[in-house]
Amino acid sequence: MDEQQRILIIDDDPQNIKVAANALRSPELIIGFARSGAEALERLEDIPFDIILMDVMMPGMDGYQVCEKIKANPRTANIPVLFLTAHTDEESIEKAYASGGVDYISKPIRSRELHARVKSQLRQLKLIRNMEFLATRDSLTGIYNRRKFFELGEAMFANHGDTLAALMIDVDHFKEINDNHGHQTGDEVLKTIALAIESKLPKGAILGRLGGEEFAVLLPLTSPDQGVDVAESIREEIASSKLLLPGGDTLACTVSIGHGTGKDILSLDGLLKVADDMLYCAKREGRNRTRLRTPV
Ligand code: GH3
Ligand code: MG
Ligand code: MG
Repeated sequence: MDEQQRILIIDDDPQNIKVAANALRSPELIIGFARSGAEALERLEDIPFDIILMDVMMPGMDGYQVCEKIKANPRTANIPVLFLTAHTDEESIEKAYASGGVDYISKPIRSRELHARVKSQLRQLKLIRNMEFLATRDSLTGIYNRRKFFELGEAMFANHGDTLAALMIDVDHFKEINDNHGHQTGDEVLKTIALAIESKLPKGAILGRLGGEEFAVLLPLTSPDQGVDVAESIREEIASSKLLLPGGDTLACTVSIGHGTGKDILSLDGLLKVADDMLYCAKREGRNRTRLRTPV
């Protein structure tokens, strides 16, 4: 997390915003502000803030209510909220945590304390994001692992249903590459293939490594032919590129692709099964090809 982080300061009093912003000014932080809960929720719709500093007493919604709304929205639920308030009685503190806050800072603002507490939360955020990345990615290629691919895939299937296409992509005769050139070269081939697939994907598509040398793509179709066009561009890209080996030789490889889509398919598993069946047809028919299901 080397890039800048965004903090949203929510307070009805512009003087408080000014003091907090001065305390937090640093090259690593982009500071945004909102003067009410309603304005804050609106800003959060448009901008992916990383952390929130929240006043409690505000006209309209108070800070606790705004925090509850932030926590109830899956898009913003994971943003840490730090409360900033003059109320330091036990009940108020308890309420701050109960509404989803991660820390509680008392007013009047002490600049160095505020800065230190925000920095500590940002450090934790960095750890969580690193862990999330490791838990969701394939360590060799950096693309989604099987678990994350299915998690995102289920949501895509729920949203796009019958306009979703699946591609199952399997490297041809990959065992020979390992046998002839070694496992390490095999790994390099897998990385190159993941990059080649990624380079051909339209916006909104997802790519995962389902196992060994098998990759899967899900893409919401914007036209009936799009899935096949994408599959063919991936296949051609891989077939026409060569991997440079350490000794100076080059290595070529191909993939076979099964394409699945259909209004009669009722689940993500069903969709991937069609693509998988088509992949095995492509293999049987000679490899280095894309195979579609005969329309039902
Ligand atoms: P086909 O054209 O029918 O797909 O043949 P294939 O040789 O590609 O398929 P097969 O399933 O026989 O072999 C796949 C090989 O992939 C066997 C396995 O050792 C190798 N493999 C699986 N995961 C990895 C990996 O992470 N790295 C490397 N280098 N090899 C792997
Ligand atoms: Mg206030
Ligand atoms: Mg294979």
